[in-house]
Amino acid sequence: MKYDRLLVPEGKTIRLKDYDPAYTGKFAAKEDAAGKLQSDIVKLAALQDVLYAQNTYALLLIFQAMDAAGKDGVVKHVMSGVNPAGCQVVNFKIPSAEELSHDYLWRSMKQVPARGHIGIFNRSYYEEVLVVRVHPEILRNQKIPPSLVGKDIWKERFEQINAYERYLTRNGTVILKFFLNVSNKEQKRRFLERIDTPEKNWKFSSADVRERAFWKDYMKAYEDIFSNTSTPWAPWHIIPADRKWFTRTAAADIIVRTLESLNLKYPAADPEHLKGLKDARTALEEGDSST
Ligand code: ATP
Ligand code: MG
Repeated sequence: MKYDRLLVPEGKTIRLKDYDPAYTGKFAAKEDAAGKLQSDIVKLAALQDVLYAQNTYALLLIFQAMDAAGKDGVVKHVMSGVNPAGCQVVNFKIPSAEELSHDYLWRSMKQVPARGHIGIFNRSYYEEVLVVRVHPEILRNQKIPPSLVGKDIWKERFEQINAYERYLTRNGTVILKFFLNVSNKEQKRRFLERIDTPEKNWKFSSADVRERAFWKDYMKAYEDIFSNTSTPWAPWHIIPADRKWFTRTAAADIIVRTLESLNLKYPAADPEHLKGLKDARTALEEGDSST
């Protein structure tokens, strides 16, 4: 199965109305996709093991979405088989005072996954061309010298982000970016469900409802992000998110196919290491016979 149509082409003007949030590919229902998701989760666990052993590449997965689109669910399900020791999730929230005293990429740099690891950014520096764009007062709070904040600020940030991602990928960090595309109607339904279900009350925030008022501005900002920052080295995928089971299946498929394309191999032991193994075996066996 190919999800190439979810991949955002480079340098094309993207309109979200061309992307159906309820699309489910060749699957009619959750049950049809369950086997595929399960087998990808198993594959992902095996691939992560080699990634870790090889210790050269890192994988950075970036998730962006409107509230209640299912970011947490994707992370939880898709990564359910991986070894937690080689996987870190970082949630990017409103910047702290210390973070605001630095340039906007500063806080991401130290969270980028180490070689051999999978790093998940739950939100990311893309908030800097998103929520910061939708709410200009946030930009005013960033203490940037006013002479450096011109009308091209967003274009400049896209350039900076593309260059930053180029830098990371050229140093061995593979980057995949996912936008979970939930519809306005489905978001409303999920908010109402959070209000009406006691076990889901904790997920509800009235701030999220206030952000709904800016839906159109967010969509415009996202479209500009996709039109300017989907690159061969760090592509965006627009994942339909009205059916949670499909979101998870599609994301798992893309992650598995990307890791497979790296042709990862367990490192072969060099002659010296092999001799060490042989000597250790002899020592262990001799130790046993003397007891
Ligand atoms: P959940 O609600 O599932 O816990 P979340 O990612 O929505 O996950 P919240 O604490 O609700 O987490 O929201 C984080 C908030 O921080 C979002 O409103 C986001 O826009 C905001 N945020 C993230 N990065 C920045 C940034 N660089 N500048 C300003 N606001 C940011
Ligand atoms: Mg939230």
